[in-house]
Amino acid sequence: MLKPIRLSDLRQLPQHTQELEFKQFFQGFESLTPVEGSLQVSHRGHFLEASAQAQTIVTLTCHRCLQQFNHRLNVEFEEIILIRDPSPEPLPLELELKDEELLESLPPSGELDVEDWIYQHLHLEMPRQLPCRPDCEGIVVETPQEQVDPRWAALGALAARLQQAPLKDSP
Ligand SMILES: [Zn+2]
Repeated sequence: MLKPIRLSDLRQLPQHTQELEFKQFFQGFESLTPVEGSLQVSHRGHFLEASAQAQTIVTLTCHRCLQQFNHRLNVEFEEIILIRDPSPEPLPLELELKDEELLESLPPSGELDVEDWIYQHLHLEMPRQLPCRPDCEGIVVETPQEQVDPRWAALGALAARLQQAPLKDSP
């Protein structure tokens, strides 16, 4: 299981970098096979640079035909995480929103919960609205065989009328 990485430990490592490989199921993330991948976290003084790649097989529901199908998920992600003490005073609303959108932050004495970090990114990278195959036609509605195409019915009526009363020559 992936253990959280202490920022203070990370600073002691060569190049301030830790590389890890993993192969495990993530609680709360359903996959058919363990999620397998690697991650790299570097301490860059005022921020952390984290990147990872992972693959697994997940079961998705086709958005066209609603059938379930297995999909090989292959993801890569990276993130910059600010290192700073939580600000004692709340930030102005604008700044706060902007901060949240762009960056996560951790206190210098904190630790990066890598398992949770990967878990969150797996969820973000889950494909939405994926068809089971590129040419999936969606839900096929069966039509009764005896139902006649209305165009053929019209043509049949016209043919019958022509037989009864042949077209007259133009005057
Ligand atoms: Zn489908």
